[in-house]
Amino acid sequence: KSYRSWEIQRVRTTCPHCAVGCQYDLLVKDNKLVGAEGVDGPSNGGRLCVKGRFGSYKFVMSGDRLTDPLIKDRATGKFRKASWDEALDLVASKFMTLKRQYGGDSLAGFACSRSPNEDIYMVQKMVRTCFGTNNTDNCARVCHSASVEGLARTLGSGAMTNPIYDITHDVDAILLVGSNPEEAHPVIGMQIREAVRNGTKLIVVDPRDIGLTKQADIHLKLRPGTNIAFANGMCHIFIKEGLIDEKFIAEHTEGFKELKKIVKDYTPEYVAEICGIDADDLRAAARIYATAKKAPIIYCLGVTEHSTGTEGVMSMSNMAMMVGKIGREGCGVNPLRGQNNVQGACDMGASPNQYPGYQSVKDPEIRAKFEKAWGVKLPAHIGLHATDVFPAAIKGKIKGLYICGEDPVVTDPDTNHVINALKSLDFLVVQELFMTETALLADVVLPGRSYAEKDGTFSNTERRVQRVRKAITLPGNSRLDTDIICELMRRMGYNQPNLTASEIFDEMASVTPSFRGISYERLEKEPTQSLQWPCTDQYHPGTPIMHVGKFARGLGLFYPTVYTPAKELPDAQYPMMLTTGRILYHYNTRAMTGRTEGLMEIAGHSFIEINSADAKRLNIENGERVRVTSRRGTITTEARVSDKTNEGETWMPFHFADGNCNWLTNAALDQFARIPEYKVCACRIEKLPED
Ligand code: SF4
Repeated sequence: KSYRSWEIQRVRTTCPHCAVGCQYDLLVKDNKLVGAEGVDGPSNGGRLCVKGRFGSYKFVMSGDRLTDPLIKDRATGKFRKASWDEALDLVASKFMTLKRQYGGDSLAGFACSRSPNEDIYMVQKMVRTCFGTNNTDNCARVCHSASVEGLARTLGSGAMTNPIYDITHDVDAILLVGSNPEEAHPVIGMQIREAVRNGTKLIVVDPRDIGLTKQADIHLKLRPGTNIAFANGMCHIFIKEGLIDEKFIAEHTEGFKELKKIVKDYTPEYVAEICGIDADDLRAAARIYATAKKAPIIYCLGVTEHSTGTEGVMSMSNMAMMVGKIGREGCGVNPLRGQNNVQGACDMGASPNQYPGYQSVKDPEIRAKFEKAWGVKLPAHIGLHATDVFPAAIKGKIKGLYICGEDPVVTDPDTNHVINALKSLDFLVVQELFMTETALLADVVLPGRSYAEKDGTFSNTERRVQRVRKAITLPGNSRLDTDIICELMRRMGYNQPNLTASEIFDEMASVTPSFRGISYERLEKEPTQSLQWPCTDQYHPGTPIMHVGKFARGLGLFYPTVYTPAKELPDAQYPMMLTTGRILYHYNTRAMTGRTEGLMEIAGHSFIEINSADAKRLNIENGERVRVTSRRGTITTEARVSDKTNEGETWMPFHFADGNCNWLTNAALDQFARIPEYKVCACRIEKLPED
């Protein structure tokens, strides 16, 4: 410990890693961050995981933070330091020249799901008012866009229905689908483990043995990509065994008959064959979930990251509505959002089809409201999704791209394709903390500030808006991200004064009905220092549970989901199946956790989990180096041999630039949300010859 308790100041803020939104104190000594300690926040109750406790402050003061604007000389490929004036003038003039030459739709801008709401609001406002396009998005496109789309279609609102505390305390059963919370949302994982210890039944639906599998009453170890068959099988059993809530279905839903016709064919035996599970286990799972008084569905990227991800999400809604487990305590359909503020990035309108608060860009009245508020004519057509921007860049349709704080070279599927797309651009700008793989390809890099150096708000996975508070000021020439955007907007001809975070929040709330009742002043006064949207006026208490008495869309919609296999399945050339996920010690690209020595000592490089029978057949020992090849690329990594995955299936974490699994993954897209199929692709594994 490098401090004594009387030497430090405590600044309460929100963990910048995952979307649990744990509340903690940053410990500050002499303008340096020296520690983090959990406080009694509504989602964490004082708990923190290893990422929050140790991996959330060292990166802020890392020696390789970007400190000055950088401009690349395209002839030499080298960056040089530049003044803010030179860099901002260049960025503004380049984008405006491209707009004049090719139109606003030749430009695009991505906001950052790690940034506060205020930064994100300003990025999408810049794209819409200055670029003149709806080509704005955020990395929810590659994680939970299917939740936003699927839940909005079936329930009327694309967000978690119930609070974390409510679904992890005093519930009879938990149906956990495609989610490994002990690694990806550890403080939720801890609460689920406690609930099981206290008698809650747990059903884990996951292709791999996860930590909670040992605690589970039933583990349905289904084949990757077969969630819809599983959910339809559950619905079949609910109907066949008289477990459905007929009154709820009759009074609150529509489309039941159409779904009933479809699930008729999904007998337990048929589903067992598709999913590779036991039919009786499926029956038992259906009975536990349907007969429990309180039972939430909790799901994550194992449901969304498929070419049928949106339908997978809608099949979660189908199950919950069929047994009337929605709109009440301890139930609901609950996506665990990934990044600290990925919920906020969607809430703030960094989406090609929606302004802040999920207001459609196609609705003339709503558009007129934003035109009046922002004082410009706005485009009426939906923009490109992030995953469609890359192919459009390769075709020459997107010429200029502004990326705020995201690193698609590491995070997006099919790395070769992403690099080709970024190299095809006329002009790429990256606003960042570090020289990431994506920033290396930029023409201009602008140094922003981290969560500990600014005020703002994050919205966690349960729609809870919480404060981010400035703890330190670092030396160097970086600027507040919102000031960078406002400066740029002025240089592009838009009259945008620099605003404080609180002023930006107020502007956003004035045009966003679901946030209208929230302000910084009010957040400070609330007992939990937080509010859950919708919160429509200053007296509204916020909305912990959604769809109570009535769905946000009126009637809940049963969507007739049909199982279709993943786009790429194993064959003679690529005989293994690869699926991807997260580990406890790292957070996405490791831009933050990779700068904490302790975490890197525990988990410092990539690996692939291989089933022991496959390893034996391929003559691969635990810990050996292997070559993994898919139709899109080849990597080398370390083999970890176990029976966590089924025979023929492999698993890799997606955090590591060395042996990054995204050179292999498939960019096949979901038809509704345009989310890629990270969770299933075909690969080949070979033992590497010894040196
Ligand atoms: Fe941070 Fe998530 Fe860990 Fe909480 S669970 S401390 S929010 S990384």
